[in-house]
Amino acid sequence: LAFCRRLPKVELSAHLNGCVRDSTLKELASGVLLDGKPVCLDGLVQLAEETSPSFGECFQMFDLLHTITTKHDAITRITREALADFAEDGAVYVELRTTPKCRPDLGVSRESYMAAVLEGVRQYYENSYRPREADLDCRLLLSIDREKDVDDAMATMELAAQLKDKGVVGVALTGNPTVGEWSELRPAMDAARERGLKVSLEAEGFNPGELAEMLAWRPDRLGHCCCLTPELRQQLLQSRIPVEICLTSNVVTRVVTSYADHPFGDLFRQGHPVAICTDDSGILNTSLTQELAIVAQTFGVSHRELRAMTVAAADYTFLPDKEKRALRKRLQASLGVVV
Ligand code: 5GP
Repeated sequence: LAFCRRLPKVELSAHLNGCVRDSTLKELASGVLLDGKPVCLDGLVQLAEETSPSFGECFQMFDLLHTITTKHDAITRITREALADFAEDGAVYVELRTTPKCRPDLGVSRESYMAAVLEGVRQYYENSYRPREADLDCRLLLSIDREKDVDDAMATMELAAQLKDKGVVGVALTGNPTVGEWSELRPAMDAARERGLKVSLEAEGFNPGELAEMLAWRPDRLGHCCCLTPELRQQLLQSRIPVEICLTSNVVTRVVTSYADHPFGDLFRQGHPVAICTDDSGILNTSLTQELAIVAQTFGVSHRELRAMTVAAADYTFLPDKEKRALRKRLQASLGVVV
């Protein structure tokens, strides 16, 4: 654990609202009424301890969480705190993803939601007083919720394209994997690609037909990829598409039965490009340090291999090539002093 703590780290799959601190959530929830009653957060707070929620239950919890956090001030605060927490954990580069919310009833539009996120990023850099925190580099991905329709996906893609000069580097297909069709949302992903945005697709559930289509489309990254048939495993290995690995998230949502059963071990030993990520560090009560320690303990990954994985992650970011090389150099320089 101490070695993983000291490693400089790269986070490529972090959902903003999943990063919220327990203490912040409790504070934001106090006084909020839902159907005339105070909001009960027990389910959310206990999620990490219970290993039996279904996908549906997990995503319902996000619906509850969003009723508390979908306010401009709250989003700004959660963004600022998420960056501070990643920096505290030794991250040097983070791609934070979030679904721009359109909630006219709450006075929130997709644009104003993103303005609140960008304000959180700005406040983080303005307030960061420790050199280590100032070292964190952050980019944003806009999440396309697969539970929504293609018009919603198009509007999110359009906003991502407009915000390219504000640190938005791509879009990600996220949300409940048992709902919605990738093929229906694909026009938005095609358009994203045409507009020069990178694309990550979360492929979490058991849906071989969909994963085959996703692989054929060749996204810039895939998420999870836990449920592979032998044919899909072969296709994935041949594709060399980097995979965002979220061990704790997959165990909690029962996509895999245990850490040891996670396909990470196989992908890693086959030399496939992988990046260890947290997914929802606040809700799951985890960190990059912890996820790397799980990798080391469960799969016998050595310190040397952890170092190599960290440096390789720079290549899987959605940064332009020149910035990837600069990040790689930075990681190598910091690794030189990690023993
Ligand atoms: P937000 O986009 O609101 O900032 O972050 C929370 C949202 O991210 C959830 O409502 C859900 O759509 C998505 N999300 C969070 N964790 C996961 C995950 O493990 N898998 C998938 N597919 N989506 C997730």
